[in-house]
Amino acid sequence: MKELHPFDCVKKTLPADVTLVAVSKTRTIEEMMSLYQAGQRDFGENRVQELMKKKDQMPKDVRWHLIGHLQSNKVKYLVPFITLIHSIDSEKLLSEVNQQAKKQNRIIDCLWQVYVASEETKHGLLPIEIEQLHTSDTLHKYPYIRICGIMAMGTLTAESKQISKEFAQAKKLFDMLALRSLQPHEMRILSMGMSNDYPIAIEQGSTMVRIGSKLFE
Ligand SMILES: *Cc1c(COP(=O)(O)O)cnc(C)c1O
Repeated sequence: MKELHPFDCVKKTLPADVTLVAVSKTRTIEEMMSLYQAGQRDFGENRVQELMKKKDQMPKDVRWHLIGHLQSNKVKYLVPFITLIHSIDSEKLLSEVNQQAKKQNRIIDCLWQVYVASEETKHGLLPIEIEQLHTSDTLHKYPYIRICGIMAMGTLTAESKQISKEFAQAKKLFDMLALRSLQPHEMRILSMGMSNDYPIAIEQGSTMVRIGSKLFE
């Protein structure tokens, strides 16, 4: 049996109302099962192919989260079972998820991925773009999508002030969208915080952290 200490250490530091998504990319089924046996059910992957393969080998009650960039042609594989897509980064993707979800008659929970980091490489929409998309005119076109909130990634830096500022920006957008939503209770997820920066994210109002390396070290 594997040592569960890293998992328990992280769990202890999380407030009860913050959901932990265990990011299991590159991890083996055995490593994932040790978390499962400790009670973990939410798992996140950033690649569809890897997620599909692991889904077949993991227990059926795992809740799967797609946290990485999603290509339109892969959407159809996820739609039957995915718990949450964290990475809506274009209207084109929103439209594709809606179309596949309609075919399979299932409403899909999704998050806008907001770009707040100061790095060129991160995917996501600008806050202003999300504000424009998050209107009844747009969302009415996609009835098979339920927007539940926002996902943000901080800049990979040791400058905690910088990260804190970025997460505060995401929180501000999240609150604004909730105010403007027709179903404000559906805006309930602010997905931010990884191994390096999750305490800062929680300070800034995160309700869901996506932690990988720190759980498995
Ligand atoms: C890999 C990854 C994480 C987890 O990162 P760690 O530093 O291992 O905790 C979280 N979110 C996304 C989008 C990722 O790709």
